[in-house]
Amino acid sequence: MNKELLIYNTLSRKKEKFEPLNPPFVGMYVCGPTVYGDAHLGHARAAITFDVVFRYLKFLGYKVRYVSNITDVGHLENDADSGEDKIEKKARLEQLEPMEIVQYYTNRFHDNMRKLNVLPPSIEPHASGHIPEQINLVKKILENGYAYESNGSIYFDVLKYNKKYNYGKLSGRKLEDLLENTRQLDGQEEKQNPFDFALWKKADAKHIMRWQSKWSDGYPGWHLECSAMGQKYLGVQFDIHGGGLDLQFPHHESEIAQSVAAYGKDPVKYWMHNNMITINNQKMSKSLGNFITLYELFSGNNDLLEKAYSPMTIRFFILQAHYRSPLDFSNAALQASEKGLKRLMAAIKKLDKLKTSNKTDVDVDKLLKDSYDAINDDFNTPLLVSNLFDAARIINSIDDGSKKITKEDLDKLSKFMTSMTFDVLGLQDELGDEKSSMTEELINMILDIRLNAKKNKDFETSDRIRDALQQLGIVVKDRKDGFEWEFK
Ligand code: ZN
Repeated sequence: MNKELLIYNTLSRKKEKFEPLNPPFVGMYVCGPTVYGDAHLGHARAAITFDVVFRYLKFLGYKVRYVSNITDVGHLENDADSGEDKIEKKARLEQLEPMEIVQYYTNRFHDNMRKLNVLPPSIEPHASGHIPEQINLVKKILENGYAYESNGSIYFDVLKYNKKYNYGKLSGRKLEDLLENTRQLDGQEEKQNPFDFALWKKADAKHIMRWQSKWSDGYPGWHLECSAMGQKYLGVQFDIHGGGLDLQFPHHESEIAQSVAAYGKDPVKYWMHNNMITINNQKMSKSLGNFITLYELFSGNNDLLEKAYSPMTIRFFILQAHYRSPLDFSNAALQASEKGLKRLMAAIKKLDKLKTSNKTDVDVDKLLKDSYDAINDDFNTPLLVSNLFDAARIINSIDDGSKKITKEDLDKLSKFMTSMTFDVLGLQDELGDEKSSMTEELINMILDIRLNAKKNKDFETSDRIRDALQQLGIVVKDRKDGFEWEFK
């Protein structure tokens, strides 16, 4: 079986064989949320993409230390180098302490992730808890001559860095183009060049979140925390750094520059970026009014939604696209995922009840090989899912007697289906054990009422119940002595 994992490295712009720096250990860092609002579909996509990477590396036997941060300081409005801190602004509007905002949205983020069955990272450091580490990193960059002080703030000297190294190697941008495209914003007179970025900002009188340093009372620049915390928990060089494509520039480009300027070494071996989610082919943004949070998806409470969607439907929908492709949200696409997931789970449930035979006339080995090839090819989850649907068809034809399988092959198929579906893709049967027995009882109870209605020739009620169940994906078959039902 092919166990060679290929990862598309944004840095080299090609697929590379995955060879960790220090096997069997793997260090992985993924940029987490800035906690000033509820998580939306974009957050779910990044979290689920790297959750599958984390799960599959563990499945392959690696010992993974997965670090994902919480940004709770230094991320200013419009991702700029001056202006109001996103969290402070929210705190001002809500008349709360900034740390109340941080705690409130961190709790809600965790709740969303639990619902999506995203495993918690090994370490979840907060930027505000690592100010000394960030100050030390600024000192190192200053000592090495790649930063300068200006009016109590410290800026990274991009021009000087670019003379020796390459600022733009991750995103493919050129410094000349950056110069042309950088707008002259307020507060930029402190900088030698408009593309220089802040490592440390002197706080103005109104700024609440501030710390002492020898340069000024201030706060760290946004890009600094990930360099400092990545180095602290994973070392000067580590294996995988991930995040959304929107973070590639300037955030990740600047992370590389900071680490190289401080330690003279490239911090990351494999850079991975997940693509964005569009909504009905438009970029998701608050100003376009097409912004859907995860809580709204789970409750259906948004005008763009025809109904509520379960967390597993959303997870399955995200896995049905390759993480490097754009993914368009639509009600139709989510409803198709909902049906597909039910079909997959129904097939898995049948595994325990299948009858075995003394011969097999399905190709289990090919199915397994194709599936491993898919996930090993840069985490091609849509191809893996389509193989799982093939497996579901095989299970159904064994169940209806049109195909045969030996006990040995059935064990192999069962182990493969459950480990890929539950362990690697992280899907859950939402009608899990307890709930499913309760659901079954409820459905039986409703169908008993329907049976009575039919006996009393109340066909209106009996049809209404059948149609309503049909809408929920439950197919009712009438029998002479009662009824039978199943999930579609
Ligand atoms: Zn980051």
